[in-house]
Amino acid sequence: MWPRDMKAARTRTPRRPVPKKPSNPCVRDPVGVYCRVRPLSRPDQECCIEVIDETTVQIHPPEGYRIFRNGEYRETQYSFKEVFGALVVQKQLFDVVAKPLVEDLIRGRNGLLFTYGVTGSGKTHTMTGSPGDGGLLPRCLDMIFNSIGPFQAKRFVFKLDDKNGVEVQCEVDALLERQKRDAMPIPKTPSGKRQIDPEFADMINVQDHCKVEDVDEDNVYSVFVSYIEIYNNYIYDLLEEAPFEPIKPKPPQSKVLREDQNHNMYVTGCTEVEVKSTEEAFEVFWRGQKKRRIANTQLNRESSRSHSVFMIKLAQAPLDADGDNVLQEKEQITLSQLSLVDLAGSERTNRTKAEGNRLREAGNINQSLMTLRTCLEVLRENQMCGTNKMVPYRDCKLTHLFKNYFDGEGKVRMIVCVNPKAEDYEESLQVMRFAEMAQEVEVARPADRPICALTPGRRFRNQAFREELQRKLEMRGGPINEETEEQAVSELLLQNFPPLPSCELLDINDDQTLPKLIEVLEKRHKIRQLLSEEIAKTVRAFKTALQEFESSVASKENYVQGKLSDKEKTIAGQKMELERLEKKIKTLEYKIHILEKTTTIYEEDKRNLQQELESKSQQLQRQASDKRRMEARLQGMVTETSVKWEKECERRVAAKQLEMQNKLWVKDEKLKQLKAIVTEPKNEKPERPSRVRDREKPVQRSVSPPPAPSAPPVRLRHRRSRSAGERWVDHKPPSNVPTETVMQPQVPHAITVAAASEKALAKCDKYMLTHQELASDGEIETKLIKGDVFKTRGGGQAVQFTEIETLKQESPTGRKRRSSPSNPDQPEDAADSEWTDVETRCSVAVEMRAGSALGPGYQHHAQPKRRKP
Ligand code: ADP
Ligand code: MG
Repeated sequence: MWPRDMKAARTRTPRRPVPKKPSNPCVRDPVGVYCRVRPLSRPDQECCIEVIDETTVQIHPPEGYRIFRNGEYRETQYSFKEVFGALVVQKQLFDVVAKPLVEDLIRGRNGLLFTYGVTGSGKTHTMTGSPGDGGLLPRCLDMIFNSIGPFQAKRFVFKLDDKNGVEVQCEVDALLERQKRDAMPIPKTPSGKRQIDPEFADMINVQDHCKVEDVDEDNVYSVFVSYIEIYNNYIYDLLEEAPFEPIKPKPPQSKVLREDQNHNMYVTGCTEVEVKSTEEAFEVFWRGQKKRRIANTQLNRESSRSHSVFMIKLAQAPLDADGDNVLQEKEQITLSQLSLVDLAGSERTNRTKAEGNRLREAGNINQSLMTLRTCLEVLRENQMCGTNKMVPYRDCKLTHLFKNYFDGEGKVRMIVCVNPKAEDYEESLQVMRFAEMAQEVEVARPADRPICALTPGRRFRNQAFREELQRKLEMRGGPINEETEEQAVSELLLQNFPPLPSCELLDINDDQTLPKLIEVLEKRHKIRQLLSEEIAKTVRAFKTALQEFESSVASKENYVQGKLSDKEKTIAGQKMELERLEKKIKTLEYKIHILEKTTTIYEEDKRNLQQELESKSQQLQRQASDKRRMEARLQGMVTETSVKWEKECERRVAAKQLEMQNKLWVKDEKLKQLKAIVTEPKNEKPERPSRVRDREKPVQRSVSPPPAPSAPPVRLRHRRSRSAGERWVDHKPPSNVPTETVMQPQVPHAITVAAASEKALAKCDKYMLTHQELASDGEIETKLIKGDVFKTRGGGQAVQFTEIETLKQESPTGRKRRSSPSNPDQPEDAADSEWTDVETRCSVAVEMRAGSALGPGYQHHAQPKRRKP
C-alpha cells in the first residue's frame, strides 16, 4: 500500500477514484536523467564522447563515421541534470542520484532508478558495482540500514500479504512465528548462518555510514526485498526456492502482473524476503544473481537481453503512546518502495552473435526498451500538447510494472551509461536521443507525509533523555568524550531511580514510612528489573552482532587467506613455468646455434658440390662432343669400309663368275672335241687339248685350264701377228695384293689400268686381267685371264678371252708333278700323257721364243686358245 493511498483511506474512502490523482497535482518533476561516461578500456581506443562540463557532453562522429555536411562535420551536445565523467567514483554518483531516493523511501515515498545504455557501457557496474567498489544497490541498502537500524521491528511483526499489502501482528505472534520458522529443518529465510559469496563480500563493504538524519523514531521499520528478471517479456522470480529435482529440473515459471486496489502493479506470488541488515539483503540479492547466471547458461540466454529489477520495500508503523509496542491498525502502516532496475542493453545490433548483421538490419531492439521509449514519447506529447493519447504501458511487462511511477506519482531517475569508444558511436547517439527525450517527461512529485504526531511516545522519551544528558554534560563541564558521556548516561539512569524516602522509624505507630519505603523499593526493583532486562537484551544483541561480525571477519579472513594462498600458488606455478620456459629458451638457443653451424657446413658442402657438379658437367659436355666427333669419324670409316668391301665382293663375284664361265667353256670344248673324236674318222689326228703342267723352275707355277678342243678356223685370220708387236691392256684391279714372288706377271709396253677402259682397249689388241683369290690351301692364287680385242661393227671394242693362267705359290720341297686341278678327273692313259707332255713342252719352247720378244716378259706356259667369246 502506498503512503498517499493510506492517507486517502484514512480520510475519505478506501478506494481512490480512477484515474487516481496525485496528492500534489500541481508539482511535477521531470524525470531526472544523469549521464555517466565510463573510462575507455584501453588508452589507445578512439573516443567519441567528451564531457564538456558538469551538465553537458559532446558526441562527435569518429574518424570512420564522420559525416561531412556543407564541409563541416557535426558534433552534438547533450545536456543532462548532471554528467559524471570517467573519474567520478561510485560514492559521488550515489550521493547525487540515489541518496535522495533512499531518503524518500524512508519518508514513505516511492522511487524508481534505472540504468540505461548499450551492453558494456557500465550499467551493471553502476548498479551493482564490482568487488571493492560497490554500486548504487549495496550503497542504498547500507544507507537504509544505517538509518533505521535501531528502530527495526522484530522479524515477522510486519507481514506482506499476497495482494501487495502489509499487515502487522503483535510481538507475541511474531515471536511464535519466529520460533516456528526456526524449528523448520531448512529455514526459508536466510536468518541463520550467512554465507556471503566472497566474490561480492567486498561490494557491501560500504563504510560511508551514510544515513538519513531525521528518521521517525516513533515508527518501527522492516525491509523486504524481492528480485525479478524480465526476459523476453516473461517475469521470473529470482528468489523462488524451486523444489530440488535432480533429474529434470523444471524450467522457471513466468510470473503474472496484477494491479492492487490502489492501482499499483505487483508481481503475484513473488518471493519477498524480510532482511535485517545490509549483509543479509545483499546476500539475498547475490542468491538471485547466481540463479540468474545459472539460468542464463542453462537456457543459453543472453544476459545482456534481460532486465533485472531489485525491489526494496520499507514497511513502517507507529509505536503506541509509550513507545513500546507497534500500533495494530493496518491503516497506520506505510509501505514505500524503491525499485532498482538494470535494463537490458539498448543496442539494436546483436553484438554477441556472429549472425548479427541480419539482426541489425531488422533493427532488433529489445522490444521492452522500444515500448519504454514509446510510452515516454506519448507521455511527453500528452504533457506538452495537452493531448490524452493512450500510453501503451500494457504492451510489455517492463512498462506495465512501472506504470504507476509515470501516471501516478513517484520519483524517477535514470542513469544513462555510455562508453565513449568509437565503435559504440551510433548506439550512443541513440541512447543520447532517448535520454534527451526522457528528460522532458514529467512525473508528479509525491506529497510530503507529515510525521505521525499521534504517538510520539518513543520520540518524546528519547528526546527527554537526550536533553537531560546534554544538561548533565554541560553541568559537568570539561571536555565531552565517550568516557564522560558514558558516565553521564549511567548517572542519568541512576537518577531515574526514585529517591529513597527517609527510613528512620521514630514512632512505633509509624505506618507510613515502611509502606512508602516498600513502595519505593518495589519501584526501584521494577526499574532495576527493567534495566537488567534491557541490559541483557542489549548484551544479547551485542553478542549476536559481535558473533556476526566475528564470523564475517573470519569468513573474510578465510576468503583473503584463500585468495592469498591461491595467488601464492599461482605465483609459484608461474615461477616454475618461467623457469621451464627459460630452460626451453636455452635449449632452443643451443639448438639454433648448432643448426646455424650445420647450416654453414652444409652451405659450404653445397658450394663445393656445385663446383664439382659444374666441372663434371663441363667434362661430360667435352666427352659428349668427343664422342660425337668419334662417331662421325667411325661412321665415315664404316661407310668407306663397307663401300670398299662391297666393291671387293662385286669384284670377287665377277671373278668367280668368270672362272665358272671359263670352266663351262672348257667343258663345252672338251665335249666338242669328244664329239669330234666320236664323229670324225680315227686316222685324222685331232688337235690335242693342251695340258697344263706344273712348271718346275719357278716357285710360282702357272696352271692353265685345259685348252679348248679347237679354235674356230675363221677367227684365226683376224688374229694380229705377235711379231707385228702386240699391244696389251694390263688390267690390275686396285684390290690386288702384291705378292713377293720372284716371278711377277709383267707385260712390257702394256697400258696398265685399274679398271677396264674403252680408250685403252681401242689402242691395244690384247687384254689381260690379273685376278687374285684365296686358294683352298690358304695361299694366294693369281689368275691371268687373257683375251684378244676386236673391233665391233658398231665402233666399240669386244674382248674374246682366250686363256686363263693360274699362278700359285708353293714350297719347292713339297712340289710334284700333277695335273691341273681344274680338270683332275680327266681320264688319260700314261702314254697319252707322255705325249701330251712332250708336245706341250715343245710348244712351250716355241712360244717362249716368240713370247720373249713380243709376249709378256716372264716365263710361262701359254697355250693360245681360240674360242668364241
Ligand atoms: P553493462 O552492464 O552495461 O553491460 P558492465 O557494467 O558490465 O556493462 O561494464 C562492462 C565492463 O566495464 C565491466 O568490466 C566493468 O567493470 C567496466 N566498467 C564499466 N563502467 C566502469 C567505470 N565507470 N569504471 C570502471 N570500469 C567500468
Ligand atoms: Mg550488465
